[in-house]
Amino acid sequence: MKPIIRGMLHDHIDGSAALGDIILDLYKMAGKKFPFASIEAWRKYFKNPHENIVTKFGTVTSVLQTDDALTLAGYAYGRARAREGFTYVEGRFAPQYHMAGGLSLVGAVDALRTGLMMAEARYNIRIMPIVCIGREADPDTGVAIAKTVLHYDGGVALDLACDEGGHPPEKHLRAFALTFGSKVRRTCHAGEWVAQDPRKTYRTRLLWNVRTAVRVLKCHRVGHAIPLCDDDELVREIVDTGVGIEGCPLSNFACGSVEDLRTLRIRELLDRGVLYTLNADDDLFLPPMPEVIAATDAAYNFTEAEVAALEKNIFRSAFDPTIRALAR
Ligand SMILES: [Zn+2]
Repeated sequence: MKPIIRGMLHDHIDGSAALGDIILDLYKMAGKKFPFASIEAWRKYFKNPHENIVTKFGTVTSVLQTDDALTLAGYAYGRARAREGFTYVEGRFAPQYHMAGGLSLVGAVDALRTGLMMAEARYNIRIMPIVCIGREADPDTGVAIAKTVLHYDGGVALDLACDEGGHPPEKHLRAFALTFGSKVRRTCHAGEWVAQDPRKTYRTRLLWNVRTAVRVLKCHRVGHAIPLCDDDELVREIVDTGVGIEGCPLSNFACGSVEDLRTLRIRELLDRGVLYTLNADDDLFLPPMPEVIAATDAAYNFTEAEVAALEKNIFRSAFDPTIRALAR
């Protein structure tokens, strides 16, 4: 059957297709020349796996350094997701990459959040912002970002993003620990991105980070968690505690982390009661949600009950407490 899913939890605003709607405006606002022949050429460059990821994102973040630019990005993101039929999304971004023009961490988050709220006021969509610590930052910067998140008293969630091999979750324990006992919801990219060699320990190293995210950083959700099914005890634990999984199957496939979507064992996770969800991750250069859903459905041939669970799990593990309460 064709699943329809109206929510998304793992969605990078600065890696979202919505930026294609405004990228020329952003360059104009920054007084810079757009360095590509067309938007299509820019997206093609983004899709090239041989180009450096940091340089790629530099074409976006370099023109997202002012209040106005970030507000426009937030608005364009919310507008695009609403037009695509989403009613609830959680959009994430890392303010540390948006301070070169003099913005503070709070200033950057405020500016983007203003845009998201403008989109909410105009369209039928609720957007929960998630602020990421780009994990290559030093632990003190992580702490400053966590303090910024605390400032919103649960209105903004916390994430840890980027290369987990070089910067495992425990590096930012101090930042995450600051939010323990507060209203702040936590997630962490874990079990996604470590060196593939040595191959023998690849899945164990991924799994180690998932365990750290759940048990040490006390995350309410985990992004990716590719090898989760390998650890029965951890699966039981996250089912018991209601930790959600932000699955991004086509992102994992595109990055070469899984060769077959079936190795994610999504059916087994759903059967066992894991709050597993489907997400696009970065649809500026990765397949958009309709393709994620179609490809995953083609791999698993989901039943009606499984489709219902995949959608309901989004709302059951939502970081907005009102949305979560309604889904119970
Ligand atoms: Zn991600």
